[in-house]
Amino acid sequence: MDIKVAKFGGSSVADAMQVKKVGEIIAADPARKFIVVSAPGKRFPDDSKMTDLLYLCKTHIEHNVPFHQVFQVIWDRFKIMIMNLGIDLDIDPYFVEIRSMLENGATNDYIASRGEFLSAIVVSKYLGFDFVDPKDYVKFDENGKFLAEETNTALGEELKKHKNAVIPGFYGALPDGSIKTFSRGGSDITGAIVARAVGASVYENWTDVSGFLMADPRIVPNAKPISRVTYKELRELSYMGASVLHDEAIFPVKEANIPINIRNTNEPEHPGTMIVEEPDPEVSDEVITGISGHKGFTVIHVYKDNMNSEVGFVKRVLAILENYDISFEHLPSGIDTVSIVIATQKLEGILGDLLDDIQKKINPDTLEVHANLALIATVGCGMNRKKGVAATLFNSLYQADVNIRMIDQGSGEMNIIVGVEDEDFEKAIKAIYDTFVVEKALKDKN
Ligand code: ASP
Repeated sequence: MDIKVAKFGGSSVADAMQVKKVGEIIAADPARKFIVVSAPGKRFPDDSKMTDLLYLCKTHIEHNVPFHQVFQVIWDRFKIMIMNLGIDLDIDPYFVEIRSMLENGATNDYIASRGEFLSAIVVSKYLGFDFVDPKDYVKFDENGKFLAEETNTALGEELKKHKNAVIPGFYGALPDGSIKTFSRGGSDITGAIVARAVGASVYENWTDVSGFLMADPRIVPNAKPISRVTYKELRELSYMGASVLHDEAIFPVKEANIPINIRNTNEPEHPGTMIVEEPDPEVSDEVITGISGHKGFTVIHVYKDNMNSEVGFVKRVLAILENYDISFEHLPSGIDTVSIVIATQKLEGILGDLLDDIQKKINPDTLEVHANLALIATVGCGMNRKKGVAATLFNSLYQADVNIRMIDQGSGEMNIIVGVEDEDFEKAIKAIYDTFVVEKALKDKN
């Protein structure tokens, strides 16, 4: 029988009104049997996320400042939610227990996880679903590494016993039973893990946007929604900019070939974005799927005559970066040059020392640094079948008077990355969007 896993993010469970929408979404499709929830998020732009308030309690304790006032804000928020949902649930014993854990040195992970825990208690009561605590099934090793296979088996066996259930996102436990959380936004990962464990036909990720847009709407106000994107394209897109979905949430479902459907709790009739394994040429003839990017990169150019005949040259350069614990984004190279593109933030306070080291150990002919580089990825698995994509892209930037400072094409041939001046970033994205999306649509119409 068809099983769907639905994960609801913080804004979808922010208050009683939102939880009621969740109830309608669940009631609309009986296949939605397993629900994963985040902690309540912001109800309005200046509001606080529950998880942040919980971390704040812990910070108060660490600084020997009374935490009870902040704690009471959290408590009251849940009480109001329960009252407005009209459910018969006494939440006080849970809060008494959490408070005493806090007073007795509870860990950061424990306290942060309580937002999801309480949220799932409330939602399970409201929906009349079972509550399943992931502390017994989502497993980490003693070093905090997530144990995918052990978790899949344990969770799969447990969930078989339930007709339907609500599971808190974001956490599991270490072998000694103590709570361990994923990184921030980690409820998305739990949703994916649950989808794999129950063999879901789809992993629905309900949030407050109707899927991904082809470009950042702050730059391209009417950016078109992406109806379908492959896991690989999404990695390329999300890697370069802020994403709707936690990066690591893709792996468990990709492995099990389960599509992810990004949906909007506030616009449930919208089909959202489907994230799938394989592109479907029948469905789309778009050359590009999306454009994303980021400002704030620095390039270190290393020149040395005959570099190409010197064995191990690049390895020595990269070993220096490793010593500084710095990862890089791109490594375009020429016969006698190699350029290393690094997020500027990672170089703060150490750039001078790093350059001294490269100079000393590599002895390049010249070493140059250019800051203020923005990277833009134009992504689409359709582009490897089409001629002239790069030409069109570069021409559009030329027409927009944007100077391209770096070009790199991923080996999968589904993205072209260009480096431009930070100040040209928005202009470049608009130009690429206009050429590939707006002008193409006009041509198709004529
Ligand atoms: N509540 C956690 C956070 O704010 C996890 C999540 O919502 O996915 O990061």
